[in-house]
Amino acid sequence: MALKITTDCINCDICEPECPNDAISYDPKVKKTYVINPDLCTECVGFYDEPTCDKVCPVDCIIKDESRLESDSELLDKYKRIWRK
Ligand code: SF4
Ligand code: SF4
Repeated sequence: MALKITTDCINCDICEPECPNDAISYDPKVKKTYVINPDLCTECVGFYDEPTCDKVCPVDCIIKDESRLESDSELLDKYKRIWRK
């Protein structure tokens, strides 16, 4: 399942450069916090054993998006689609 950023985000910008899929962005017109594109978030499958954004966030505001249930194999397929592997 993809991860999502809650309204507790303090816009510190630490997570954005850490994402290997460029899934994290900041667009103040859309939302006043950083956001994760669920179509690009693989929970870091294909790169790391754990979601790296969650590890670096200083306020623990990155959580699982329960509306985006995906198995490990679906996340791996997403990784392959993104990177055409
Ligand atoms: Fe990016 Fe990984 Fe965080 Fe998903 S879990 S947004 S792929 S850093
Ligand atoms: Fe927001 Fe956490 Fe990312 Fe900082 S690391 S921008 S607080 S989600």
